Amino acid sequence: MPSNVPNRYVNRPFLRWLLVGVLLIAGAMGALWYNEHRAISWKDTLDPFYWWRRWHNEDLYLPQQDLLLHGNHQLPEVALTFDDGPHPQSLPSILATLQRFHVHATFFDVGENMAAYPNLVRETLAEGNEIGNHTSTHLRLPHLSPLERHHEINDADITFYRITGQHLYLLRPPGMDYNDRVLAEAKRLGYIVVGYTVGAKDFVTDESVSFIVHRTLDRLENGSILLLHDYPDTARALPAILKGLAQRGYRVVTISEMIAHLPLKPRLAAVQFLRQQGDPYFGPEVASCGTASASQSVVKVRTKKEYKVSQSN
Ligand SMILES: [Zn+2]
Repeated sequence: MPSNVPNRYVNRPFLRWLLVGVLLIAGAMGALWYNEHRAISWKDTLDPFYWWRRWHNEDLYLPQQDLLLHGNHQLPEVALTFDDGPHPQSLPSILATLQRFHVHATFFDVGENMAAYPNLVRETLAEGNEIGNHTSTHLRLPHLSPLERHHEINDADITFYRITGQHLYLLRPPGMDYNDRVLAEAKRLGYIVVGYTVGAKDFVTDESVSFIVHRTLDRLENGSILLLHDYPDTARALPAILKGLAQRGYRVVTISEMIAHLPLKPRLAAVQFLRQQGDPYFGPEVASCGTASASQSVVKVRTKKEYKVSQSN
Protein backbone atom coordinates (compact mmCIF):
# COMPACT_ATOMS: atom_id res chain seq x y z
CA MET A 1 0.00 0.00 0.00
CA PRO A 2 2.67 2.61 0.83
CA SER A 3 3.98 2.26 -2.74
CA ASN A 4 0.78 4.02 -3.98
CA VAL A 5 1.52 7.21 -2.06
CA PRO A 6 4.38 8.56 -4.19
CA ASN A 7 2.39 7.75 -7.35
CA ARG A 8 -0.38 10.12 -6.27
CA TYR A 9 2.13 12.94 -5.82
CA VAL A 10 3.78 12.22 -9.17
CA ASN A 11 0.43 12.30 -11.06
CA ARG A 12 -0.92 15.55 -9.62
CA PRO A 13 1.37 17.96 -11.55
CA PHE A 14 0.74 15.94 -14.70
CA LEU A 15 -3.03 16.32 -14.25
CA ARG A 16 -2.62 20.03 -13.62
CA TRP A 17 -0.66 20.49 -16.85
CA LEU A 18 -3.18 18.35 -18.71
CA LEU A 19 -5.98 20.57 -17.43
CA VAL A 20 -4.07 23.73 -18.43
CA GLY A 21 -3.44 22.24 -21.88
CA VAL A 22 -7.10 21.31 -22.38
CA LEU A 23 -8.20 24.80 -21.29
CA LEU A 24 -5.70 26.45 -23.62
CA ILE A 25 -6.84 24.35 -26.58
CA ALA A 26 -10.51 25.00 -25.72
CA GLY A 27 -9.76 28.75 -25.44
CA ALA A 28 -7.95 28.80 -28.80
CA MET A 29 -10.80 26.88 -30.48
CA GLY A 30 -13.35 29.26 -28.91
CA ALA A 31 -11.38 32.27 -30.19
CA LEU A 32 -11.20 30.75 -33.68
CA TRP A 33 -14.93 30.03 -33.66
CA TYR A 34 -15.68 33.54 -32.41
CA ASN A 35 -13.47 35.11 -35.07
CA GLU A 36 -15.36 33.28 -37.80
CA HIS A 37 -18.77 34.18 -36.37
CA ARG A 38 -18.05 37.51 -34.72
CA ALA A 39 -20.60 40.26 -35.24
CA ILE A 40 -18.33 42.83 -33.54
CA SER A 41 -14.59 43.39 -33.72
CA TRP A 42 -12.01 42.02 -31.27
CA LYS A 43 -11.23 45.59 -30.27
CA ASP A 44 -14.84 46.19 -29.20
CA THR A 45 -15.17 42.75 -27.63
CA LEU A 46 -12.26 43.43 -25.29
CA ASP A 47 -13.25 47.03 -24.56
CA PRO A 48 -15.42 47.39 -21.39
CA PHE A 49 -16.39 50.93 -22.47
CA TYR A 50 -17.88 49.49 -25.67
CA TRP A 51 -20.13 47.18 -23.63
CA TRP A 52 -21.11 50.09 -21.39
CA ARG A 53 -22.01 52.21 -24.44
CA ARG A 54 -23.85 49.26 -25.99
CA TRP A 55 -25.82 48.68 -22.79
CA HIS A 56 -26.94 52.35 -22.98
CA ASN A 57 -27.61 52.24 -26.76
CA GLU A 58 -24.81 54.76 -27.31
CA ASP A 59 -23.04 52.56 -29.87
CA LEU A 60 -25.77 52.94 -32.53
CA TYR A 61 -25.82 56.56 -33.61
CA LEU A 62 -23.35 59.30 -32.64
CA PRO A 63 -25.32 62.58 -32.73
CA GLN A 64 -22.25 64.84 -32.55
CA GLN A 65 -20.87 63.40 -35.78
CA ASP A 66 -24.19 62.25 -37.28
CA LEU A 67 -22.69 58.83 -37.73
CA LEU A 68 -24.82 55.66 -37.89
CA LEU A 69 -22.87 52.60 -36.76
CA HIS A 70 -25.49 49.97 -35.94
CA GLY A 71 -29.23 49.24 -35.97
CA ASN A 72 -31.45 48.42 -33.01
CA HIS A 73 -30.01 45.53 -30.92
CA GLN A 74 -33.54 44.47 -29.97
CA LEU A 75 -34.98 44.01 -33.46
CA PRO A 76 -34.20 41.03 -35.72
CA GLU A 77 -33.48 43.20 -38.75
CA VAL A 78 -30.46 43.87 -40.93
CA ALA A 79 -29.79 46.50 -43.59
CA LEU A 80 -28.34 45.49 -46.95
CA THR A 81 -26.10 48.13 -48.52
CA PHE A 82 -24.54 47.92 -51.99
CA ASP A 83 -21.61 50.25 -52.72
CA ASP A 84 -19.89 51.48 -55.91
CA GLY A 85 -22.73 51.16 -58.48
CA PRO A 86 -24.71 51.53 -60.51
CA HIS A 87 -23.14 48.89 -62.76
CA PRO A 88 -25.09 47.52 -65.74
CA GLN A 89 -23.33 44.11 -65.39
CA SER A 90 -24.77 43.44 -61.93
CA LEU A 91 -27.47 45.91 -60.87
CA PRO A 92 -30.36 44.52 -63.00
CA SER A 93 -29.80 41.08 -61.49
CA ILE A 94 -29.52 42.52 -57.95
CA LEU A 95 -32.75 44.50 -58.39
CA ALA A 96 -34.56 41.46 -59.79
CA THR A 97 -33.46 39.31 -56.83
CA LEU A 98 -34.50 41.95 -54.29
CA GLN A 99 -37.89 42.16 -55.99
CA ARG A 100 -38.26 38.36 -56.01
CA PHE A 101 -37.65 38.28 -52.24
CA HIS A 102 -39.87 41.36 -51.65
CA VAL A 103 -37.12 43.32 -49.88
CA HIS A 104 -35.47 46.69 -50.38
CA ALA A 105 -31.86 47.79 -50.01
CA THR A 106 -29.74 50.94 -49.82
CA PHE A 107 -27.36 51.63 -52.71
CA PHE A 108 -24.39 53.92 -52.10
CA ASP A 109 -23.82 55.04 -55.68
CA VAL A 110 -20.84 56.81 -57.22
CA GLY A 111 -21.64 60.09 -59.03
CA GLU A 112 -19.80 59.29 -62.26
CA ASN A 113 -21.55 55.91 -62.50
CA MET A 114 -24.93 57.58 -61.90
CA ALA A 115 -24.16 60.04 -64.72
CA ALA A 116 -23.24 57.14 -67.04
CA TYR A 117 -26.35 55.07 -66.23
CA PRO A 118 -29.17 57.43 -65.18
CA ASN A 119 -31.83 54.88 -66.07
CA LEU A 120 -30.39 52.45 -63.53
CA VAL A 121 -30.64 55.19 -60.88
CA ARG A 122 -34.31 55.76 -61.72
CA GLU A 123 -35.01 52.02 -61.79
CA THR A 124 -33.35 51.52 -58.36
CA LEU A 125 -35.64 54.15 -56.84
CA ALA A 126 -38.74 53.06 -58.77
CA GLU A 127 -38.51 49.60 -57.21
CA GLY A 128 -38.62 51.07 -53.69
CA ASN A 129 -34.91 51.02 -52.86
CA GLU A 130 -33.01 54.03 -51.59
CA ILE A 131 -29.80 55.62 -52.80
CA GLY A 132 -27.02 57.21 -50.76
CA ASN A 133 -23.91 59.19 -51.70
CA HIS A 134 -20.64 57.30 -52.27
CA THR A 135 -18.87 60.43 -53.61
CA SER A 136 -18.43 61.64 -57.14
CA THR A 137 -15.38 59.62 -58.26
CA HIS A 138 -14.67 57.31 -55.28
CA LEU A 139 -11.64 59.19 -53.94
CA ARG A 140 -10.54 58.66 -50.32
CA LEU A 141 -11.87 61.79 -48.61
CA PRO A 142 -9.33 62.37 -45.77
CA HIS A 143 -6.50 62.94 -48.25
CA LEU A 144 -8.22 65.71 -50.25
CA SER A 145 -8.08 69.48 -49.86
CA PRO A 146 -11.20 71.05 -48.29
CA LEU A 147 -12.40 72.25 -51.70
CA GLU A 148 -11.79 68.88 -53.39
CA ARG A 149 -13.55 67.13 -50.51
CA HIS A 150 -16.53 69.42 -50.83
CA HIS A 151 -16.82 68.77 -54.57
CA GLU A 152 -16.28 65.03 -54.21
CA ILE A 153 -19.32 64.84 -51.93
CA ASN A 154 -21.49 67.58 -53.37
CA ASP A 155 -21.04 66.80 -57.09
CA ALA A 156 -22.54 63.34 -56.58
CA ASP A 157 -25.64 65.03 -55.14
CA ILE A 158 -25.81 67.42 -58.11
CA THR A 159 -25.70 64.46 -60.50
CA PHE A 160 -28.39 62.63 -58.52
CA TYR A 161 -30.56 65.75 -58.45
CA ARG A 162 -30.27 66.20 -62.23
CA ILE A 163 -31.50 62.63 -62.73
CA THR A 164 -34.22 62.44 -60.06
CA GLY A 165 -35.05 65.94 -58.79
CA GLN A 166 -34.19 64.67 -55.28
CA HIS A 167 -31.25 65.13 -52.94
CA LEU A 168 -29.10 62.58 -51.10
CA TYR A 169 -29.06 62.42 -47.29
CA LEU A 170 -26.93 59.37 -46.50
CA LEU A 171 -23.20 59.20 -47.16
CA ARG A 172 -20.74 56.34 -47.08
CA PRO A 173 -17.15 57.53 -47.53
CA PRO A 174 -15.14 55.30 -49.95
CA GLY A 175 -13.27 52.63 -48.01
CA MET A 176 -15.16 53.86 -44.93
CA ASP A 177 -12.10 56.11 -44.69
CA TYR A 178 -12.93 59.21 -42.67
CA ASN A 179 -11.55 61.61 -40.08
CA ASP A 180 -12.97 64.58 -38.19
CA ARG A 181 -12.67 66.86 -41.24
CA VAL A 182 -14.67 64.42 -43.38
CA LEU A 183 -17.37 64.09 -40.71
CA ALA A 184 -17.56 67.89 -40.30
CA GLU A 185 -17.98 68.45 -44.05
CA ALA A 186 -20.56 65.66 -44.30
CA LYS A 187 -22.55 67.22 -41.45
CA ARG A 188 -22.31 70.68 -43.02
CA LEU A 189 -23.70 69.27 -46.29
CA GLY A 190 -26.54 67.58 -44.42
CA TYR A 191 -25.53 63.91 -44.41
CA ILE A 192 -25.73 61.09 -41.94
CA VAL A 193 -22.56 59.03 -42.47
CA VAL A 194 -23.41 55.32 -42.60
CA GLY A 195 -20.92 52.74 -41.35
CA TYR A 196 -21.19 48.96 -41.60
CA THR A 197 -20.87 46.03 -39.23
CA VAL A 198 -20.30 43.14 -41.65
CA GLY A 199 -18.05 43.37 -44.69
CA ALA A 200 -18.54 40.54 -47.18
CA LYS A 201 -15.12 41.24 -48.74
CA ASP A 202 -16.87 40.83 -52.08
CA PHE A 203 -14.48 43.36 -53.61
CA VAL A 204 -11.75 40.69 -53.52
CA THR A 205 -12.23 39.38 -57.03
CA ASP A 206 -10.82 35.88 -56.58
CA GLU A 207 -13.17 34.98 -53.72
CA SER A 208 -15.92 32.51 -54.53
CA VAL A 209 -19.65 33.11 -54.34
CA SER A 210 -19.96 30.75 -51.36
CA PHE A 211 -17.22 32.74 -49.54
CA ILE A 212 -19.32 35.91 -49.96
CA VAL A 213 -22.45 34.12 -48.73
CA HIS A 214 -20.80 32.65 -45.62
CA ARG A 215 -18.75 35.71 -44.81
CA THR A 216 -22.04 37.65 -44.79
CA LEU A 217 -24.27 35.19 -42.97
CA ASP A 218 -21.78 34.05 -40.32
CA ARG A 219 -21.34 37.45 -38.69
CA LEU A 220 -24.86 38.68 -38.09
CA GLU A 221 -26.68 40.01 -35.10
CA ASN A 222 -29.78 42.17 -34.62
CA GLY A 223 -29.20 45.54 -36.28
CA SER A 224 -26.25 44.53 -38.46
CA ILE A 225 -25.44 46.70 -41.47
CA LEU A 226 -24.12 44.51 -44.30
CA LEU A 227 -21.61 45.96 -46.72
CA LEU A 228 -21.93 44.42 -50.17
CA HIS A 229 -20.98 45.76 -53.59
CA ASP A 230 -22.82 46.21 -56.86
CA TYR A 231 -20.64 43.55 -58.51
CA PRO A 232 -21.48 40.39 -60.54
CA ASP A 233 -20.21 37.90 -57.90
CA THR A 234 -22.33 39.62 -55.25
CA ALA A 235 -25.35 39.50 -57.56
CA ARG A 236 -24.82 35.72 -57.84
CA ALA A 237 -24.46 35.38 -54.06
CA LEU A 238 -27.52 37.47 -53.25
CA PRO A 239 -30.26 34.78 -53.52
CA ALA A 240 -28.40 32.54 -51.02
CA ILE A 241 -27.78 35.53 -48.72
CA LEU A 242 -31.47 36.50 -48.72
CA LYS A 243 -32.53 32.89 -48.21
CA GLY A 244 -30.10 32.60 -45.29
CA LEU A 245 -31.35 35.82 -43.71
CA ALA A 246 -34.95 34.61 -43.92
CA GLN A 247 -34.00 31.22 -42.42
CA ARG A 248 -32.29 32.97 -39.52
CA GLY A 249 -35.40 35.10 -38.93
CA TYR A 250 -33.98 38.46 -40.00
CA ARG A 251 -36.04 41.10 -41.80
CA VAL A 252 -34.25 43.15 -44.43
CA VAL A 253 -34.63 46.92 -44.09
CA THR A 254 -33.24 50.03 -45.76
CA ILE A 255 -30.98 52.39 -43.81
CA SER A 256 -33.85 54.90 -43.45
CA GLU A 257 -36.08 52.16 -42.01
CA MET A 258 -33.25 51.13 -39.69
CA ILE A 259 -32.97 54.74 -38.47
CA ALA A 260 -36.75 54.88 -37.99
CA HIS A 261 -36.53 51.75 -35.81
CA LEU A 262 -33.69 52.90 -33.51
CA PRO A 263 -34.40 53.18 -29.77
CA LEU A 264 -36.00 56.48 -28.79
CA LYS A 265 -32.99 58.67 -27.95
CA PRO A 266 -30.77 57.95 -30.98
CA ARG A 267 -33.88 57.86 -33.20
CA LEU A 268 -34.99 61.35 -32.18
CA ALA A 269 -31.49 62.72 -32.77
CA ALA A 270 -31.14 61.13 -36.22
CA VAL A 271 -34.69 61.88 -37.39
CA GLN A 272 -34.46 65.48 -36.24
CA PHE A 273 -31.19 65.96 -38.11
CA LEU A 274 -32.57 64.45 -41.33
CA ARG A 275 -35.73 66.54 -41.06
CA GLN A 276 -33.73 69.72 -40.71
CA GLN A 277 -32.05 68.77 -43.98
CA GLY A 278 -35.46 68.23 -45.61
CA ASP A 279 -35.16 64.45 -46.08
CA PRO A 280 -38.54 63.53 -47.62
CA TYR A 281 -38.53 60.09 -45.99
CA PHE A 282 -38.94 61.66 -42.56
CA GLY A 283 -41.47 64.29 -43.60
CA PRO A 284 -39.92 67.73 -44.13
CA GLU A 285 -43.40 69.22 -44.03
CA VAL A 286 -43.37 68.93 -40.22
CA ALA A 287 -39.77 70.08 -39.78
CA SER A 288 -40.73 72.85 -37.36
CA CYS A 289 -42.76 70.63 -35.00
CA GLY A 290 -39.81 69.81 -32.71
CA THR A 291 -38.87 66.58 -30.99
CA ALA A 292 -42.25 65.86 -29.41
CA SER A 293 -43.74 64.87 -32.77
CA ALA A 294 -40.69 63.00 -34.05
CA SER A 295 -41.94 59.66 -32.76
CA GLN A 296 -45.33 60.30 -34.41
CA SER A 297 -43.64 60.75 -37.75
CA VAL A 298 -41.91 57.42 -37.30
CA VAL A 299 -45.33 55.83 -36.97
CA LYS A 300 -46.33 57.61 -40.16
CA VAL A 301 -43.27 56.22 -41.93
CA ARG A 302 -44.14 52.74 -40.78
CA THR A 303 -47.69 53.05 -42.08
CA LYS A 304 -46.44 54.32 -45.39
CA LYS A 305 -43.90 51.51 -45.74
CA GLU A 306 -46.28 48.91 -44.30
CA TYR A 307 -43.88 48.05 -41.53
CA LYS A 308 -45.60 45.37 -39.47
CA VAL A 309 -43.43 44.80 -36.41
CA SER A 310 -44.19 47.95 -34.43
CA GLN A 311 -45.72 45.94 -31.55
CA SER A 312 -42.33 44.44 -30.72
CA ASN A 313 -40.61 47.81 -30.44
ZN1 LIG B 1 -16.67 51.97 -52.50
